[in-house]
Amino acid sequence: SPVFSGQFYAVLGLARSGMATVAALLASDAKVMAWDNNPETRDRLQQQYQEAIDKGRLVIADPMIADIFGISAFVVSPGIPINRHPIAALAKERGIPIIGDIELFAQAHGFWERHGRRCPVVGITGTNGKSTTTALIHHILKEAGLPTLMGGNIGLPLLAADPLPDGGVYVLELSSYQIDLTFTLDCDIAVLTNITPDHLDRHGGFEGYRKAKERLFLLQSSPHYAVIATDDIPSQVIAKQSAAHLVTVHADNISAEDQINWPNLQGPHNAQNAVLAMAVAHILGISDDVISKALVSYAGLPHRMQKIGERRGVLFIDDSKATNAMATAPALAAFPAIHWILGGVPKTADLDPCKAFYNHIRQAYTIGQAGPDYAQLLREAGVNVVECGTLEKAVRLAAEEAQPDEVVMLTPACASFDQFSDYEARGQAFRKIVEALD
Ligand code: ADP
Repeated sequence: SPVFSGQFYAVLGLARSGMATVAALLASDAKVMAWDNNPETRDRLQQQYQEAIDKGRLVIADPMIADIFGISAFVVSPGIPINRHPIAALAKERGIPIIGDIELFAQAHGFWERHGRRCPVVGITGTNGKSTTTALIHHILKEAGLPTLMGGNIGLPLLAADPLPDGGVYVLELSSYQIDLTFTLDCDIAVLTNITPDHLDRHGGFEGYRKAKERLFLLQSSPHYAVIATDDIPSQVIAKQSAAHLVTVHADNISAEDQINWPNLQGPHNAQNAVLAMAVAHILGISDDVISKALVSYAGLPHRMQKIGERRGVLFIDDSKATNAMATAPALAAFPAIHWILGGVPKTADLDPCKAFYNHIRQAYTIGQAGPDYAQLLREAGVNVVECGTLEKAVRLAAEEAQPDEVVMLTPACASFDQFSDYEARGQAFRKIVEALD
């Protein structure tokens, strides 16, 4: 498509979404300067695009040093900390915007709309529950027979996919980092799950973090919809400021019996995710019947309260995606007798959101950087706790101690980076250790 034709972009960071961005820009007849600090990544790019390089359409160069005359934007990966990166000063000095791949998508989407292709965009943000709500909405739309594409912070990079036909629906999970790099995305439906402390370092405190989420709603024009779970105060503030048609939901809008019928949406947090998804589906005109069936057939996502095995009557549950105490609390709420594996890089000094469920804990097993402090904190609160250091030791010990009908659950309330590359690697390691138990 000719969306980016004749433009010149610098793409910084060549992981999955960066590579997809380069491919999409070249396919759309733009000129690209691409850079990654990792020389192996650059080599890979060079091998893949030798022809474009020969034709002068792709330059592999560091925009901090190279001639950037004519560049219309820096397209950076959301993993690059722009508030600390020297690119920020260069961009300011030269008056060049710093954007992300979602912004490029927004521009392409605007272009397709002007050419008569109407495809609503649903954007989902929040601290916890984004992926689940996104996957659930996408699943309901598929079950309703609508063409739909899930992207953003989940699944394939958005720019790697072919555009949807007229009437298709884009369902985008948007992290606060991605929203920071987005300027013209006007979601037909913007969804907010909740806002609690997380990623505070990057956004310079809680207010900065709330503002990053808020922007998604400020970018909306008035005939559009904002669907907001107003269970916490920062979300209520955003709801008040929204200029769109406002739909507010509460987790307790769903009855307990309803929830029991949804095998892969257990726990109070999933009630919040489900009411949000239902509200979005209603706005898109999907029938109640299709929605209820889809909630039952939803298969769940890996590493979110995922049952991975059973051994001598003990269930093993991988909730590695719970990287903060707010996300861990509902998992602890969901079972009465838990051997709780937690720890890693802590997001908060306390575990306060989990406190209400300490009576569900048979024993806690701490690992990683937060291990010693969290062990002491729990011990002081009267919880049995063993400081284990490694995941392997924690799982082995928990498996030994757990009695039939109890569960062993990795719901760490911490980031994984001290011992694993990411939460997925942590979850996979957990599964491997469980599978190796005799
Ligand atoms: P995100 O994409 O925002 O990180 P996920 O859907 O992947 O959210 O869920 C991450 C973790 O947060 C899960 O492991 C679950 O325990 C918890 N969680 C999911 N939905 C909610 C919610 N609505 N409120 C609080 N915690 C939640």
